[in-house]
Amino acid sequence: MIKEKLKLIKSGKLSAVDNVKGFIDKIKRENKKMNIVLHVNGDAVEQARVVDEKIKKGKTGKLAGLGFLVKSNINVEGLIANCGSRTLENYKSTYDATVIKKLLSEDAVVLGMANMDEFACGASGENSAFGVCVNPAAKSRVPGGSSSGAASGVAAGFCDFALGSDTGGSIRNPASHCGVVGMKPSYGMVSRYGLVDMAMSFDQIGPLAEDVAGCEVVFDVIKGKDDNDAVSRDFVEASSSKDLKKMKIGVLNMSADPRIWELVTNRIKEVKGDKWKVTSFNLGHVDLGIQTYYPIVYVEFFSGTRKFDGRKYGLNIDEVGGKEVLRRIIGGGEISKAEFAGKYYRRALKAKKIIADEFEKAFEKFDFIILPTVPKLPHKVGKRLSLDDEYDYDALTVLANLAEVPAISVPVGFVNDKGEEVPVGLQILGARGSDEGLLGVAKVFEGEE
Ligand code: GLN
Repeated sequence: MIKEKLKLIKSGKLSAVDNVKGFIDKIKRENKKMNIVLHVNGDAVEQARVVDEKIKKGKTGKLAGLGFLVKSNINVEGLIANCGSRTLENYKSTYDATVIKKLLSEDAVVLGMANMDEFACGASGENSAFGVCVNPAAKSRVPGGSSSGAASGVAAGFCDFALGSDTGGSIRNPASHCGVVGMKPSYGMVSRYGLVDMAMSFDQIGPLAEDVAGCEVVFDVIKGKDDNDAVSRDFVEASSSKDLKKMKIGVLNMSADPRIWELVTNRIKEVKGDKWKVTSFNLGHVDLGIQTYYPIVYVEFFSGTRKFDGRKYGLNIDEVGGKEVLRRIIGGGEISKAEFAGKYYRRALKAKKIIADEFEKAFEKFDFIILPTVPKLPHKVGKRLSLDDEYDYDALTVLANLAEVPAISVPVGFVNDKGEEVPVGLQILGARGSDEGLLGVAKVFEGEE
């Protein structure tokens, strides 16, 4: 756990070098079989040595000596940000993303770059051009995606925390499948500068860790307005002052595996305080989440990938991209062409606004909204799915991206499925800007697993 680890490092009981070297050695020993880390930072131990020097001089950063993994679509100077794609296979970053700058300035150390679905398109981890990674919590199952390596890396004990990106669930989905905590901040809360776009009106960077407190210390460092990202801003915290003993909780009725719902409702009962008001409710258009999300993603992804034509960066994506990436490029191109009729993209933007307004109204009634993170258990690696079945994984996570609100997934237990214990996550949504309050309430919901 990060907080305890920080105490050990700050008190001198554990050196940054020993912490970082411990992770690097473990990665070197175990990663061949797990395929979680695509590139190890060869300078990590040396960087930890510098941190130890600073600690000796009494200049200790907030995250001094912690080791972290970075999803391969976030730029770290000198490391390969291949986005899980052959297109950028050898692309070495020339600069640090804002989030990386902030973490390094608090003396955290990058351990390496984590596996992911190609260009963050996917919900299983199987769309990586470098092969799927192992889900350490349920070995026959997919780890989830697209931040597959970030979640698996935390679950495998390869790092203190990891950074992922979430466009429609890519932090929360693998967190749920791997039994760890993953948080998507409010849109605009964390700078996207240095993140390779998937769909820019949804993308957010966020932390994954073993517990909520771990996500909290990282979030605290990476949040905030950045002049390099025009949509980033400082939010006035809406609900950090919420009295956790007296809360109005809405449980959003959505369809999901009954075994998952059972874990979620049981946890609510377990933690419910005397003065909590828990109400189950419906929202009008949330069933259209997937149909609203994908047309927007296709168009923005199509537009964002035009720079990968092989002239400036890597290879031509249209020639070497995987199946899902090409589907979105071709689909996005077609939708853009048909756009003079305002049929798809503009319609989807209208639907997005309707859904966002519905959530805004719901947050006038409730402090927080709860639902499962993912509607079904992760499938076995290699199982063929229809496109509908693939996209269905996102039905409960895209809502927070459409509404631009913060959301977090915390482990809620396991379902025994065909003889295997499979982790399940509970999802909590807060009003836009209430990220700190959300972390507070998430601590109440996290169990002992
Ligand atoms: N699974 C969703 C998609 O493929 C979400 C991906 C993400 O959040 N990056 O679009």
